[in-house]
Amino acid sequence: MQQASTPSQPESCDVLVIGGGPAGSTVAALLATQGRRVVLLEKAQHPRFHIGESLLPANVELFDRLGVREQVERIGMPKFGIEFISPDHDHQTYLEFAEGWNKSLSYAWQVRRSELDELLFRHAAARGASTLENCRVRDVGFDADGATVQAELAGADGSKTARQWRARFVIDASGRDTLLANKLRIKDKNPNHNSSALFGHFRNAQRLEGKKEGNISISWFEHGWFWFIPLADGTTSIGAVCWPYYLKSRDKPLREFFFDTIALCPGLAARLKEATLVDDAVHATGNYSYIARHCSGERYLMLGDAYTFIDPMFSTGVYLAMHSAFKGAEVVAACLDQPAAAAAQARAQFERTMRKGPSVYSWIIFRVTNPTIRDMFMHPKNVFRVKEALMSMLAGDIFGKTPIWGALRMFKAIYYMVSLGHLRRSFAGWQRHRVNIRDVGPLRGETITEQK
Ligand SMILES: Cc1cc2nc3c(=O)[nH]c(=O)nc-3n(C[C@H](O)[C@H](O)[C@H](O)COP(=O)(O)OP(=O)(O)OC[C@H]3O[C@@H](n4cnc5c(N)ncnc54)[C@H](O)[C@@H]3O)c2cc1C
Repeated sequence: MQQASTPSQPESCDVLVIGGGPAGSTVAALLATQGRRVVLLEKAQHPRFHIGESLLPANVELFDRLGVREQVERIGMPKFGIEFISPDHDHQTYLEFAEGWNKSLSYAWQVRRSELDELLFRHAAARGASTLENCRVRDVGFDADGATVQAELAGADGSKTARQWRARFVIDASGRDTLLANKLRIKDKNPNHNSSALFGHFRNAQRLEGKKEGNISISWFEHGWFWFIPLADGTTSIGAVCWPYYLKSRDKPLREFFFDTIALCPGLAARLKEATLVDDAVHATGNYSYIARHCSGERYLMLGDAYTFIDPMFSTGVYLAMHSAFKGAEVVAACLDQPAAAAAQARAQFERTMRKGPSVYSWIIFRVTNPTIRDMFMHPKNVFRVKEALMSMLAGDIFGKTPIWGALRMFKAIYYMVSLGHLRRSFAGWQRHRVNIRDVGPLRGETITEQK
């Protein structure tokens, strides 16, 4: 590997954004539209692979506001709801977003992330952001006037060029690389949750029919749950989110282990009977939930996964990342244009908003192994409008004015009452959760791809 050359004079900008995923590209587009000098640096070259293909209805409005809705529609597979399949029940449940409180949030899309992320990245450039790919940020140093950002630009010939920027403000949207949270040593692993994932793409998977074809299917199995995400080009993304002890038990090549895992979920295995793995590629990723102790400073913000990561069961990642970008763009404007008191207020509000999404979804995620929650998903009833509230929550409708909160409290109250009524079962579920999330140390092959 060649050494990076000595950095030249720093270039200057108003805002430097680290990472061209959904959060970084969205905030860069919004800030460039405000007329700011924005630099967006991405370590990879788009289109690049990324997992996280299922979107939420609330995302549609954000695409609209960003001006890319039609482009996303062109690459997306319409998704109107969710199918839940449990090994403890002999039926499937189909929940539609149109059953939510706000009937207008009725659909979303499943997308190939390489396509979505490239589209958003190019859109940021079209809005006036200066974008650079193959450019990895190595370090950020803050002082009273701003920040110095050190990066390394990789050339097609393997050369490395050191680059430097002076920025008035820095946004960390580096995803699960969590550049700033690592540097500031403020990243905490979530003690209540712990999982890892195995995934691949299949041709010829047996999909649902008609309007349900694009639905995501969630199948629980002994060691976690599977997603089944039909994409517009006919392939289907299949992934197992499993407890780390299970991934740790792997004693064979990833591909074999993945197929053995699929066999543990007979309903899914049947849908994949005629299917073939695309490119023979299977990926594995350590997927520990984490949160940084804060997500803003006088000269920086953290957005999306750079701040926190929760289990992907409810497909919230891209929406929360883009929502954080919309809120973040307002905070940057306050920090750069307004007196210190107003900026501090904007940041405090931002911190509260950033904690809200993960905490709303985590309540259920932490309880998914509990038989009571599974029963409630498999036999959904709309008493006190709890089903409508739940569907609105699953559509991502948690930041607006839809009045779901009373009904969601009722959902929790019902959960606690049913759990009390089945004390032995509830205690066993709680015990299983403690065992499942136990720390098993680093996973062999964290974020790896095996291909024949
Ligand atoms: C197994 C799994 C399944 C998931 N399924 C879903 C799903 O179905 N639906 C959903 O909405 N979400 C899902 N997610 C979550 C989703 O992938 C993320 O929440 C989402 O991608 C976050 O967007 P982001 O912009 O914050 O980060 P990312 O999309 O990760 O983007 C970060 C970008 O920063 C770049 N970068 C990193 N470090 C640097 C650096 N030093 N310099 C320059 N660039 C850098 C990276 O290359 C990357 O392009 C899933 C996640 C996992 C792990």
